[in-house]
Amino acid sequence: KKEDDSQYYWDSYAGVDIHETMLKDAVRTDAYRDFIYNNKHLFAGKTVLDIGCGTGILSMFCARAGAAKVIAVDASAIITKAQENIFHNNLSSIITCVRGRIEDVALPVDEVDIIVSEWMGYCLLFEAMLPSVLFARDRYLKPDGLLVPSHANIWLAPVSDPQYVADNITFWRDVYGFDMRAMQAGIYDEARVLTWPASSAPADPNSTIPAAPSAFKLLDLYQVQTSDLSFTAPFATTLARDIDALDGYLIWFDMFFSPTRNSAQSAVELASTAEAWAAADPQNRVAFTTGPHGRETHWKQGLLLCKPKAEEANNASTSKVGGEIKGEISFSIPEDHARGLIIKVAWNGNRSQTWSLR
Ligand code: SAH
Repeated sequence: KKEDDSQYYWDSYAGVDIHETMLKDAVRTDAYRDFIYNNKHLFAGKTVLDIGCGTGILSMFCARAGAAKVIAVDASAIITKAQENIFHNNLSSIITCVRGRIEDVALPVDEVDIIVSEWMGYCLLFEAMLPSVLFARDRYLKPDGLLVPSHANIWLAPVSDPQYVADNITFWRDVYGFDMRAMQAGIYDEARVLTWPASSAPADPNSTIPAAPSAFKLLDLYQVQTSDLSFTAPFATTLARDIDALDGYLIWFDMFFSPTRNSAQSAVELASTAEAWAAADPQNRVAFTTGPHGRETHWKQGLLLCKPKAEEANNASTSKVGGEIKGEISFSIPEDHARGLIIKVAWNGNRSQTWSLR
């Protein structure tokens, strides 16, 4: 697919507010800081490429950690602020700012030891910035070079919450005595980005997440190709309590920052959760989750609302404890919106729905 060159995207990063939101997301910014400062030995004397530098925060972390040279690239006008920020912190001799798309710019070096980038969007892949990082990986990263972060894992969990449905869907059928069902248009076609409240354990009768989350896509950033970012993957989980209805699916992701290239993938697979993986080497590893059980981040979660099940399709085995919810989830990019995302879920044989994020 063709990259989106449209100016709206770069303009959306030109202002202060969006960067303020990202910098104040402490889960996000602390993770980069902790990985870089806890692993100064990896950065000392190295050449680092910061893809999408924004305010320059990650470049400045790397310079403070002892990098010999940092190249900060951004196509948005925000880079003029990065240049000033770098100047006001006396780091201009280490950090060089280059304005333009990473795919287009001429860099002052042929190869780099480390690539650092904060490319993640809603449901991980909204905004489609990861392909730019993969381009730079293949073009500039030394064969033994480091990617920061290094891995990502995407999760899905079924949700069942009659109160949410009453407040956000049924609500429109009687607003001060008027039927406003027209206001619901699109609710089953568009993914919602919101903070889902932390739920009690799946087996708890009040849990809004009544089954264990399923990790359906692990991205090893050293290996992944842009073509892998449109995919279909299986998922499966088992209801830990009876539910009245499956109201939707919640989507989130975990991020991993590994100090080594080697066997990080299998370590992530074995540990499964960001928390467990980081706990195995708290000195050097960093990881965070954007899930409902973790601290809130600006990515929140993606909610895919399911249409109420038709009576004739009622099947008790999918709403009783022990019932399996299994199927396939696909991510793809809309034909008419290169930075958008389409998520399709097909489950339990006869159910299927498609949501988009624009
Ligand atoms: N690194 C900063 C900003 C992250 S936001 C921080 O962590 O706070 C992502 C930034 O990447 C935006 O400023 C956007 O303009 C830039 N960006 C996205 N794709 C890019 C590309 N292909 N080339 C250059 N910059 C890009």
